[in-house]
This record gives sequence, C-alpha cells and structure tokens, in this order.
Amino acid sequence: MFESLQDRLEGAFKNLKGEAKITELNIASTVKEIRRALVDADVNYKIAKEFTDTVKDKAEGEKVINAISPSQLMVKIVKDELVSLMGGEAAPFNAKGNPAVILIAGLQGSGKTTFSGKLASYLKKQKMSPVLVAADVYRPAAMEQLRVLGEQIGVDVHLELENKNPVEIAQNAIRDARSKNKNVVIIDTAGRLAIDEAMMTEVANIKNAVNPQEILFVVDSMTGQDAVNTAKAFNDRLDYTGVVLTKLDGDTRGGAALSIKYTVNKPIKFISSGEKMDTLDVFYPERMAQRILG
Ligand code: GDP
Repeated sequence: MFESLQDRLEGAFKNLKGEAKITELNIASTVKEIRRALVDADVNYKIAKEFTDTVKDKAEGEKVINAISPSQLMVKIVKDELVSLMGGEAAPFNAKGNPAVILIAGLQGSGKTTFSGKLASYLKKQKMSPVLVAADVYRPAAMEQLRVLGEQIGVDVHLELENKNPVEIAQNAIRDARSKNKNVVIIDTAGRLAIDEAMMTEVANIKNAVNPQEILFVVDSMTGQDAVNTAKAFNDRLDYTGVVLTKLDGDTRGGAALSIKYTVNKPIKFISSGEKMDTLDVFYPERMAQRILG
C-alpha cells in the first residue's frame, strides 16, 4: 500500500542523513520533496502545502535539539502531522440501539455491498446480531449479491423483491429486526455511477425516516481526488458520521486516506482491503501513518 509515497518520503528523509544538524536550508529542501511526494500521491495541493508549512515550522522550532539526528527528527515530525491530518485518535463506532441502524451510502462500485457484508460479519464476531437490508430497488443483482453474502457469513438478509420503496423497506426491516431481537440493522442503499440528485434525495429520505446511529460513506480509495470530491458532495447532503475507505489492497496512491478528514472533517472509521469478508479493519491514524512511513 502507498509504495510510491513511502519511497518518495524515504528519499526526502535520506537527503538529511549526512547532515550533522538541521538548518533552514536542509529543512526547506526536505519539505519541498515531501510536498511533491504528497501531491504526486494525489493529495490536494492546498492540503499538501499546509501540511509541509506546519512540518517546516515545527522543524525550525526544534533546531536546537541535538539529541536525535536531523532525519530522525524530521520523520517524527512528519509522522505526528500525518496522524493529526488523518484525525488523531481512532473514531468510535456506535452500534448501540434497539436496534442500532447503520446506513451505508456511496457510489455504485465503491464497495458498499461488500462492506455491508464485512461489517455484519465483524459485528457478528463481537456477539451482536446484525441484519442486512437490501434497499437498492433498481438492481435485482445487488439484492441477490447481498443475499449471497448473507448466506456466506450466516447473517439474515431482509429482502422485499416486489417493493420499490426503499424507505418502506428500511422501516419494515427495522420493525422486523426488533421483533426478532436483532440489535443492528445495516441498510445497503442504491448507488449510481456518478453523483445524482435522485440518489441523494433517496438516501436522505431513508436517513430522515429511520434516524440512523451511523451513516457511513463508502468510497473507493483508488479514485484519488475524485474520492475527496465525492466525499464532500455526500457530506453536504447527508452529514454522515464516518467514512469507509475501500480497495486499500489495490494500487492506491494514498491521497484519499490523507485528504478526506481534512476536507469533510469526518473521521475515517473503517478500511477495507480485499474481497474476502474478513478484510475489514478499524481505522487507526497512528497505524496508517506508520504504514505510510514504512
Ligand atoms: P457497490 O456497488 O458499492 O455495492 O460495490 P460492490 O460491493 O459490489 O463492489 C464492487 C466491486 O469491488 C466488486 O467486484 C467487489 O468485489 C470489489 N471490492 C469491494 N471492496 C473491495 C476491496 O476492499 N478490495 C478489492 N480489491 N475489491 C473490492
């Protein structure tokens, strides 16, 4: 993951290896390299600039510390800033309710249905009793995909093949879950290939009708700056509670992971890295920063 960014940052720190102390000049050249590396990893220029300005200020402020080498100092400052850029602490995920309602939104192909299955599987392992709800009334194949996933992980799937009203399906599913003592309802909504008013209205209507504990926006990390634009558009309409980054097992450059929290001020809560049901992780900014720095 993020190999290119990792290599580039390593290169930037290497420039400092032979230096006896940190100076304005070597800080400036290192910071410039870091900025280039971030922009090439698809981090928006403004974010990259602000990031490196902070790194520069911190490095200059620490000039007098001689205990660690300039390159170690710079790695530490960059790591701290990466953690801060990605939100600092891991964000809590709220699956408490009677039942808790989790609404899943995002573009078609982002990995919503796969993530819904993974989340159900994850919660089941924590001794919760989740139900999956197929609220994509336009694509019978999506409903079938969720049914198959549910079967695979041993989780009930609420399906209403003849009902074309997703709000009603969601409400029925919640009522049904309550009567069966299921404590989490995960609603997989319809996506489109691009942002579209009808899709947004539909998800917003479901949100208003079912008052979810969590609204998770699912986004494909491979789509780079587009991921960030989509995240913004969905947040403007849905005011979601968290982001799920998918396909981190692919050849993603890292821009989305680094820019989303800054842009929408919502935490990344989960990362998904594969098609198998056990490839879901809670997002920890600290661990991600460590992985980026190698
Ligand atoms: P949806 O249209 O948003 O519901 O997206 P799907 O869940 O159907 O996923 C679209 C495609 O991406 C499918 O082929 C999935 O198997 C694949 N996919 C989903 N999540 C991941 C992931 O984390 N890694 C990889 N490599 N593929 C994924």
